[in-house]
Amino acid sequence: MKGVLKLGKIAGIRLEVHWTFTLLLIWIVFLDIQRGGTTYSALMNIVLILLLFFCVILHELGHALTAKRFNINTKKITLLPIGGVASLEKMPEKPGQELIVALAGPAVNVIIAILLFLIVPMKSYFGLDADSLGQLLEAPRLETLLFYLFIANVMLVVFNLIPAFPMDGGRVLRALLAFTMDRARATEIAAGLGQALAVIFFMLGLFFNPFLILIALFIFLAAYSENQMVKQKSLVEGHFVREALLTNITVLHPDHSLEDVFAIILSGTEKDFVVTENEDIVGVLNHKEIIKNAKNGSIKVRSIMNTKFSCMNATDELKEFFHLINKEKQRFFPVTDNTNKLIGAIDAYNVSEFLMLKTNFIAKT
Ligand SMILES: [Zn+2]
Repeated sequence: MKGVLKLGKIAGIRLEVHWTFTLLLIWIVFLDIQRGGTTYSALMNIVLILLLFFCVILHELGHALTAKRFNINTKKITLLPIGGVASLEKMPEKPGQELIVALAGPAVNVIIAILLFLIVPMKSYFGLDADSLGQLLEAPRLETLLFYLFIANVMLVVFNLIPAFPMDGGRVLRALLAFTMDRARATEIAAGLGQALAVIFFMLGLFFNPFLILIALFIFLAAYSENQMVKQKSLVEGHFVREALLTNITVLHPDHSLEDVFAIILSGTEKDFVVTENEDIVGVLNHKEIIKNAKNGSIKVRSIMNTKFSCMNATDELKEFFHLINKEKQRFFPVTDNTNKLIGAIDAYNVSEFLMLKTNFIAKT
């Protein structure tokens, strides 16, 4: 993701904050000034938000570290104004494991809430009528800050457990469904419910809180794309990379100029290229990189090719391709045979064409 501030690494996982997060802080200060708050109360509000997002990081770490126990790595945790996102390489496909990973996040907030409940004298807050509670909360004290943090953690648990796939509650639902039916069907049901809830969030957002609109869009799109992904994965079950292999590919040399590549692109339909030198695969030249450097035709392929690429083997299962897309954020990979010799390439376009041909075939027979 572009426009992120890197905070560092925890347990090998990158921690990033998206730039829009600063908008949230500005918005909080703005609200406080509008209410006639002091510098001190504005500061307290910012501290509260930062503490809350620290709890969100712990929540995401709950998912990530639990997934690690099932040998699934997490590349990074990103903080957005609407919450955190842990980029797991994949979700566990066994329903029991997915259930545990999904519950691990909210469980962290339950523990934090219990700890705060023990620390803060809750009775002095819960026993009050609305007016005196309001007065007490106006006065910025550490105890009040922790009380707010307690409420926020309880809300995090409740909100995350709403079964709006792919939020945690939706994943719990999918996992539970997947105990009794196949995963693709379970995902379809959970994603359908997720999208219906997203529409409701959107409408509520129009009237109450603009953040709900953002969350609604996020859920709607994420539910759609994960449903597609799982559907495609179930369709490619039992098929192998060699069946969707692009064999008619142009192989580049590192000393080719971009000008040479333009000629190849214009004379055919290829967009991404494998680069070899002395029969070794040394890089991948992606379409994005070509476009980015389009003004400089004399530049050599060597200086813009991606040298940190992954290869697939012709005998790999096709579903591994989807894992790789998710992991590498790339859609084109060189394919080798068992002797590590380049025999072709695979890309998302060709795989979806393979799927169309195959499902069409099934529909007719
Ligand atoms: Zn979560």
